[in-house]
Order: sequence, then C-alpha cells, then structure tokens
Amino acid sequence: MSRILFDARWIMPVSSPPIENGRLVIENGRIVSIDRAAGRDRSAIDLGDAIVLPGLVNAHTHLELTACRGRVPYRGSFVDWIEQLTIINPHNGPDDLLEKSIGEGFKQSITAGVTTLADIGAGPYVLRQWSRAPINTVGFLEVLGVGPMLCNDHLRSFGKVTELFQSIADVDSGENLKRVGISPHAPYSTDISIYREAVHFVGQTGRHICTHLAETREELQFLSDGTGPLRDLLERFGLWDGSFEPPGCSPVEYVRQLGLLEHDPLLVHVNYVDDKDLGLLAEHQCSIAFCPRSQRYFEHEPHRYREMLARGINVCIGTDSLASNDSLSVLDELRFLRSQDQKISNRQLLEMGTIAGAGALKSDGQIGTLESGKKADLAVVPLNNPATTDPVDDLLTGESVSSSVYVSGKRIYPN
Ligand SMILES: [Zn+2]
Repeated sequence: MSRILFDARWIMPVSSPPIENGRLVIENGRIVSIDRAAGRDRSAIDLGDAIVLPGLVNAHTHLELTACRGRVPYRGSFVDWIEQLTIINPHNGPDDLLEKSIGEGFKQSITAGVTTLADIGAGPYVLRQWSRAPINTVGFLEVLGVGPMLCNDHLRSFGKVTELFQSIADVDSGENLKRVGISPHAPYSTDISIYREAVHFVGQTGRHICTHLAETREELQFLSDGTGPLRDLLERFGLWDGSFEPPGCSPVEYVRQLGLLEHDPLLVHVNYVDDKDLGLLAEHQCSIAFCPRSQRYFEHEPHRYREMLARGINVCIGTDSLASNDSLSVLDELRFLRSQDQKISNRQLLEMGTIAGAGALKSDGQIGTLESGKKADLAVVPLNNPATTDPVDDLLTGESVSSSVYVSGKRIYPN
C-alpha cells in the first residue's frame, strides 16, 4: 500500500471551507483524510505557501486545434472565422501536425492544473492520444455532415464510429478515468438524421453526448427559417442541397424534440437562449459548458450563466480551443470571470471550474472536490500573498500558476 502525506498552507476541498495548515493523506491514489496538520510529520511532503485544490476540469476544448493559436482572428463574422479555420485546420494538414497539436494541448492543460478534460476530436489519432494521456479524459468523437456530405461514408458511418468506440473501453477505476462519448457537431453542420442516430446510440450504450448549441444569432436564424450567413456558408462549401427543413424553433427546443435532452447532455456555449429555453434546460439534467473568454473573443451578447445557476442548471467551464482563446487554463477562465462579474461568488466560480465539470462528465463521485474516497487529483498553486486569510480570493484574483499537478497522488507535472 502506498501512503503519501501532503502538508500545505491551505487545502481547498471546494466541498467545504479551506483548511489552513492542512494535511492531506492519500493511500493508493485515493484521499483518505483532510485535516489540520497536527504537528510535524517527517514523512509528509511540505508544499509550503501554496493552495492545494482539486485538479481543474475543462469541460470543453478541441485539442486538435492547439496549433491554431493566434492564427484565426475574429473580424466580426462567425462564418468568416469558420472559413478561415477550415483552411488551416490541422485535420487538413500532415498527420504528424494533428498528433503534435493534440500532444501540445495535453501538455498545456496539465501545466495549467487541469486534470480532467472533455475534448472533442475525430479519427484514430485522437483516440490513441486520449487513451495515453496521463489525465482523466472524456473524449467526444465528432460526427457531422449535411446535404451532399451525407453520402460520405467516412463522416456518416456509425458502424465505423462504433468500431472506434470499441478501441477504448470505459475505465472508471485505475489511475485515471477514460471514457469516449459522441458529439454531433452543431445543428447547422449536422443533419437531423445524424442527431437521431447519435441519440439512439447513447440510448443504447449509455455513452456521453455533447453538442455545440445556440452558439450564434446566425444559428437561431438558420433554424428558424433556413436562411442567413450559415446557409450562405453551406452554399459556398457546396453543402447546400435544399434538403434541410428548418424546424422553425430555437436550438434548445430543436434538440429537445430530438430527444437529446433526455440523455444528460453536455451542451456547449448556449449563448443565445430565451426564458422558455432556460425553462427547458432546467427541466432536464443538462450541463452547460460555458466558455467565457471564447465568448468574449466572438463578441457575443452577455451569457445568461447566472440565471442558469439560479435555476439549478449545472454550468461548468470550458476554454474552447486555442483558435479562439489564448490559453487552455480553466483558472484563467475563472480569473477572467472574477474580473468581469461582481455578482457571482468565489464559491460558485470554484465549483464551476471543478465539481460542476465533474458532474457534467458523470464523474462527481470520483473527482471534482477533495473528499475522502475520491481520486487524489490535485493542482498546487503558490499563494500570491502568503499572508492572506482568504485563499480563494488570492487564487481568483492573483496571477500564480500551478507549481505542481498530481493525478491519483502521482506527480505528473513537473515530471
Ligand atoms: Zn467547440
């Protein structure tokens, strides 16, 4: 049996108030106890003037696009941004570029104290890297296709997807969690038949499902009457064949009609919702992956995350990809939100970056807080002001970055 003791100036379980001069006891990769350190124990590893918090959970990213950092400027048009991204997407480059991009994404995530990732990707490369990564990874295989693309077996064949699924078994024990789910991309890029198959698939298998939803005003227009910049984009890409029948409703109502809300989905962005949509989301077990800095990048209208939280909707934090952000750090997202929003509490912010993401990935019994029995996944962040009496404020308003990161009690950074 392996037993490790960590002493630190502050231990922040998230599920309970921070403990000053705390001691964390870990056995076989699991937390056994958290308490005030009663005297010096020579076997304890002293982490010094630092905060120990649960490893952060990034509920939405595309590590494949890590190589796109700073290369896709936003010039006021979302479809123009998509067109630019399509040109430089590593998927269209050499295989090793894609592999390097994903690997670099994992590296940057770990350095930032992220120990659990919900990553969207496609193809065998990403599966291999998900399975090898030293952190918890819920990988969502992306499926999409509209109009003439539906004839393309590569994109559409669920047989192939099922085969890919079998190459990674879900593992909930052991050193880190590995799961694979499915992600129909978005209502404007993914035919209703694919959504239906995806919903059927998760109904049969119990896999996770995730989709981008209500991201832009253009998406609302497209679903409402099949017109607008997204329709124009599909036409330019040669993907418009007139077969799309606009449902004439909101994106949230659209996926509700498809039965997707019955499967505890992770809904990404959800930037444009009305009160009725909020009611629907609250009636179901949905999680929202809110991406604050990506939302700012695209100059979206204010997100309704506080109203969502007030209605009991699980709102977690995603960084989105580096094509629309400048780091893969969830802590950077929380600090950004802290600087922008005087009304949200520090406790809510911390939860959004940890346990809410764990809940969205149905792993809150294992990760997301520091509690006895849970995995010892830890981010260690040096105090900005060692004399502080409010470590949460120090964490959320300071600039310190993770000095070390542990998964199941094992140090993975620095290594
Ligand atoms: Zn995304």
